Amino acid sequence: MSHIALLPSSGMGHLTPFLRLAALLTAHDLKITIITPYPTISLAESQILSHFFSSFPQIRQVKLYLLPLDNVSSSSEEDPFYYHIEVIRRSSHLLSSLLSSLSPPLAALITDMSLTASVLPITGALNIPNYIFFTSSAKMLTLFISFHTKANSKLYGMDALHIPTLEPIPKSWFPPPLLQDTDNLFNTYITENGKEMTKSDGILVNTLESIEQESLAALNGGKIILGLPSVTAIGLLPPCFEKCQPLAWLDNQPTGSVLYVSFGSRTAMSREQLRELGDGLVRCGYRFLWVVKDKKVDREDDKDLEDVIGNELMESVKERGLVVKHWLNQENILSHPAVGGFLSHCGWNSLTEAMWHGVRVLAWPQHGDQKINSAVVEKIGLGIWEMSWGWGGKDMVKGQHIAEKVSELMGNELLRIKAVCVKEKARAAAGMEPGGTSLKMKALAELTETWKKYS
Ligand code: UDP
Ligand code: UDP
Repeated sequence: MSHIALLPSSGMGHLTPFLRLAALLTAHDLKITIITPYPTISLAESQILSHFFSSFPQIRQVKLYLLPLDNVSSSSEEDPFYYHIEVIRRSSHLLSSLLSSLSPPLAALITDMSLTASVLPITGALNIPNYIFFTSSAKMLTLFISFHTKANSKLYGMDALHIPTLEPIPKSWFPPPLLQDTDNLFNTYITENGKEMTKSDGILVNTLESIEQESLAALNGGKIILGLPSVTAIGLLPPCFEKCQPLAWLDNQPTGSVLYVSFGSRTAMSREQLRELGDGLVRCGYRFLWVVKDKKVDREDDKDLEDVIGNELMESVKERGLVVKHWLNQENILSHPAVGGFLSHCGWNSLTEAMWHGVRVLAWPQHGDQKINSAVVEKIGLGIWEMSWGWGGKDMVKGQHIAEKVSELMGNELLRIKAVCVKEKARAAAGMEPGGTSLKMKALAELTETWKKYS
């Protein structure tokens, strides 16, 4: 049996799609190992890993024990998740003996894009084919692989990145660290990894031909960079866990009536912005389920909800909403019939989940790739993006404005229908018959046949 290993990096946004992919691969007569960097930065990652390996006993876990870092300062300017990627990167030489000890020898390794430049030389030396899993949108991939060719001089004085055959990407949509003058981990990470992508054996993206056709065509047509291996849309990756107990509160709400509000696993808003958001939710008059986060890293999030949003707001939200300050299984929320809209930061996993469940989105990008993903939301008709809101943490968005946009989303029947169409496309690509569970994702099936030939 051919042996495939997967190597995720840091954060739920990277780990979750890797676990979904591994779960799907179990249907393809392969031996599967997941190499998990240890320790994880967030508690959510360590919990989902335990749950995953007990649910999929046929998948093996091998830990990559991370080395302590003393010669890199974890400056308060850097995102702790980028810092953790740096820790993994600096421990990656340990992979050489780890990979060669795996038995039977690997037919291929699937590596997170953030580790491209550090892991490709290792797999190259061991003669192991290495596929890069890009865990964001294909549109973000177009920026990822072209940024290093245009950095500094060529972008200077221009207000957009021009990529042949594609709409220009305004610089204001770039992840903000890319535009800083000073060195930072994110900039190095995109520049170094983007350069090396051509040396991989293939690139996998959790997206659909039917929703990101133009980006995929440009990537595969040699239009952006010569020598790029083939970019395969393997999505949308379906959830890998059985549905668990939904929230009792949601069961009591009318169909399609609830706005779900969440900014993912690693984004904390300022207290002031949280209160404006709360004010907006109360004003809009719709029912809502709001997940509050006060710290980027969940292990540090130790304040009570009342302390974070204040007693007064706590009282007024109770009338129409439910507010929590802990991890909720987002798949269970988005699949619930009461949920009719999603106010989202537009992390790519959140968006693919909204597509999978056909929930329309109000985009409020906060950082990183999220403006580029928000552009995809608008383009495919999944939702609305109010560009004037800017990046989270930079501009203060007033409650009144939030209330207006929520009403615009929840009252828009056309968007509701379009979101359902996106869901139907996703389910069709996954080969899911109504009421059935058969998965025959063609692109992935073809890849597994290639891997079987390597071993
Ligand atoms: N997630 C969740 N519950 C939460 C917050 C996040 O289940 O309370 C999941 C979400 O479903 C998604 C992942 O965590 O699969 C977050 O990834 P995404 O790319 O959306 O954003 P990130 O957290 O990386 O910013
Ligand atoms: N809604 C929707 N799809 C539905 C049901 C409701 O988009 O299938 C939206 C609709 O815009 C409506 C709002 O949710 O204005 C509130 O719905 P409902 O009337 O069921 O709740 P209530 O007014 O009792 O809070």
